[in-house]
Amino acid sequence: MRVTYWCEHAWLGTHTEPGVALDVSDGRLTAVRTGADTPPPDAVPLRGLTLPGLANTHSHAFHRALRGTVQVGSGTFWTWREVMYQVASRLTPDSYFALARAVYAEMALAGITAVGEFHYLHHAPGGTPYAEPNAMGEALIAAAGEAGIRITLLDTAYLSSGFGAAPDRHQRRFSDGTAEAWAERAAGLKDRDGVRIGAAIHSVRAVPADQLSTVARWAADRRAPLHVHLSEQTAENDACLAAHGRTPTRLLADHGVLGPRTTGVHNTHLTDEDIALLGGTGTGTCMCPTTERDLADGIGPAVALQRAGSPLSLGSDSHAVIDLLEEARAMELDERLRSRTRGHWTAAALLHAATAQGHAALGWPEAGRLEAGALADFTTIALDTVRTAGPVPRLAAETAVFAASAADVRHTVVGGRHVVRDGVHRLVPDVPRALTESIAALHR
Ligand SMILES: [Zn+2]
Repeated sequence: MRVTYWCEHAWLGTHTEPGVALDVSDGRLTAVRTGADTPPPDAVPLRGLTLPGLANTHSHAFHRALRGTVQVGSGTFWTWREVMYQVASRLTPDSYFALARAVYAEMALAGITAVGEFHYLHHAPGGTPYAEPNAMGEALIAAAGEAGIRITLLDTAYLSSGFGAAPDRHQRRFSDGTAEAWAERAAGLKDRDGVRIGAAIHSVRAVPADQLSTVARWAADRRAPLHVHLSEQTAENDACLAAHGRTPTRLLADHGVLGPRTTGVHNTHLTDEDIALLGGTGTGTCMCPTTERDLADGIGPAVALQRAGSPLSLGSDSHAVIDLLEEARAMELDERLRSRTRGHWTAAALLHAATAQGHAALGWPEAGRLEAGALADFTTIALDTVRTAGPVPRLAAETAVFAASAADVRHTVVGGRHVVRDGVHRLVPDVPRALTESIAALHR
């Protein structure tokens, strides 16, 4: 299939260019032609600012069912987790498919073309495996397919309620028992069109130290991405120091977990040595600013991590909101509040985190750039809404990053396929209704 899209404006990695034609064949960009002042004949016009597709590097799809319900009352991450576990206990492969399809459709409407699903809800309540041991993971893969976006299923090892303690009653359905059993089950999942399989270690709490290397080796053997929740909470650091006499980052380093295919998620409460270890090994950092502020986690040292050599990516994690533009600017704005200085990242640097670096962290290095040979994944932000009207054209990317929202996304194209057109999802006809129905089914 050959098609040409015409961008009124396009962000080309360093600057915004007016009048850009994108030639697409078999799901890839074959040419990026500047100087196209008017749409070529038969081209599909994309009015606004076209960006490479956004990568949502960290997602737990079912947390979308908590939106609103967790905003009542006070507490901490740990009290929030109790509510989250109640929803987790009700999901089945069918109800998870319906919810995830709606959530991934919401992501497509927000300009997201690839999601990293950090997936640990493997078994039936109580821990009994399903007849198809990967029924839940396959439900998520099918949901992404129906919503028209790419997925990296980060199949997550979750074996312990904390440093070797047995999983509690909620966590039993997360656990395969041992890392070997996890590896055997996860090996049943295969890459396919639009799908990559990666691995995750839930956290140093949830995988005993002597089993970390089993997961790391599984990912290394497949050259697959490996993600891990890292130092989101100080309590995790304290418990790790008590159990192992070292920080979570040091523990991961000592068991071969760090490296350029590994991404630490959150990386909030780190020592200087942790930052040097992460940067020195090229381990990535996925910041999830809207979740981190929602859960009162704290502000991670993203500036120092990047300076040390850790590539940054962004995720909507708990889906308090699904808006990668908000994640991008929040990273900068949180840093401004803490440092009382401005300009830690340019709009271009924030967009790199939201596009190319996010895709690389999910094992899609060939996506996230508007250039010949890359996957034809892109999204268009309207520049004529109340939020975005009136920019200087060459500063359209600055406007998009610092003022636009997911509601301003007009088009999303994945592998050349026009999934969202003029703000309408073409595969899931009524996304709000799909969300309403799939979430109501869980709260019944
Ligand atoms: Zn998470």
